[in-house]
Amino acid sequence: MKAPIIIIGSGFGSYQLIKSIRRTDKQIAITVFTLDQGHDYNKPDLSHVFTNQQSSADLIRLSAEAFALENNITLHAFTEVEHIDSEQQVVFVKSVAYPYSKLVLATGAKTFIPPMLGNATDKILTLNSLREFESAQLQLQKAQRILVIGAGLIGTEIAMDLNRSGKSVVVVDPNKSLMATILPDLVANALQKKMTEEGIIFEFGSTINSLNQTDQGICATLSSANTHLVDCVISAAGLKTNVALAKKSGLKVNKGLVVNQQLQTSVQHIYGLGDCAEINGTVMAYLQPIMLSANALAKTLLGQPTDLKLPAMLIKIKTPQMPIQLGGNTVIGVASWQVDIDTQGCSVKAYNEQKEMVGFIVTEGHMKKAFPLLRALPANL
Ligand SMILES: Cc1cc2nc3c(=O)[nH]c(=O)nc-3n(C[C@H](O)[C@H](O)[C@H](O)COP(=O)(O)OP(=O)(O)OC[C@H]3O[C@@H](n4cnc5c(N)ncnc54)[C@H](O)[C@@H]3O)c2cc1C
Repeated sequence: MKAPIIIIGSGFGSYQLIKSIRRTDKQIAITVFTLDQGHDYNKPDLSHVFTNQQSSADLIRLSAEAFALENNITLHAFTEVEHIDSEQQVVFVKSVAYPYSKLVLATGAKTFIPPMLGNATDKILTLNSLREFESAQLQLQKAQRILVIGAGLIGTEIAMDLNRSGKSVVVVDPNKSLMATILPDLVANALQKKMTEEGIIFEFGSTINSLNQTDQGICATLSSANTHLVDCVISAAGLKTNVALAKKSGLKVNKGLVVNQQLQTSVQHIYGLGDCAEINGTVMAYLQPIMLSANALAKTLLGQPTDLKLPAMLIKIKTPQMPIQLGGNTVIGVASWQVDIDTQGCSVKAYNEQKEMVGFIVTEGHMKKAFPLLRALPANL
């Protein structure tokens, strides 16, 4: 009997790939190993769980058992793949060898926690998976004062969500403004003004020197020497790709698991997908490229080698007080902006040195311009 396709991971990448394979082939054997419970859930929902008063159970779309049954897969939950032997075409789990015909690493990424001193650093929470939310939810429910490390997209969304659910929130970031790598000052400042009016405190240009438990709560001492007493600290300081398994198994790794346009790694029959993968030098940790990658990879795995094609893609920032959508390059590689602003919000076009439009941002009442602007951008791949 032919060995199954083995997929490591049960996140969006893995489950999109399985659904895509099953649209064409209902029978080919698929085995999944995952460190998680294996439930099917929508990770972006973690950005509004507090306002919606949802528990981790509310986010489950299909239980692990139901997903496995519906998609005819063998699922090993709470199971770590420890090693890959690419010559023998087997993966090792608790020293047992499982043969594969094709292997897909969809091992995702973990939240980066900046280095700092103090006796409370082990209390830092992260919200990058259902499992992490499950273990943090009671603590976060009880907490009134929360410090968020990082004012990037995820940190900003989480800060707004916590604040809307009635918590006091402080955000600490070494940059000078919100989402500094994707928002020009004009838009970042408008969003910051709204969030400040809602009571969120921003500590820009700062890092945390130490976190120490005191009788009144966790005391965060910043590089600016300011201090904040809080009940919980959440890190949203960016992602680190989960590539330890790939690295120790001899696959080429850079910022992420290096793959070509067919998602193939440096080793035959092994592929990389999702937040762990680096395609053309870039890690794209969001849903649209992962979905398109999964669809292309499904065809390749079923015998029809298919290159990944990526159009210009839309990013929606889930900040309900000031909705924002953007596409292309909006800060890096931008030489000038053209701004159209009125009482309804703004649209900003970004141009490179050659005066070509390379990106755009629209806010609030300007949303209907997003798709025409997106169509005017060049493809990614
Ligand atoms: C709060 C939040 C909001 C977001 N909002 C948006 C949004 O609005 N729009 C958007 O496009 N994107 C958003 N994203 C990003 C998006 O959710 C991710 O890019 C996507 O879910 C990543 O899926 P993945 O399958 O690559 O990785 P993951 O979901 O991280 O899955 C990785 C899997 O690998 C498993 N694993 C790792 N190592 C091993 C091992 N050795 N053995 C076995 N299993 C292993 C893990 O257990 C896990 O199941 C958001 C992310 C967060 C955290």
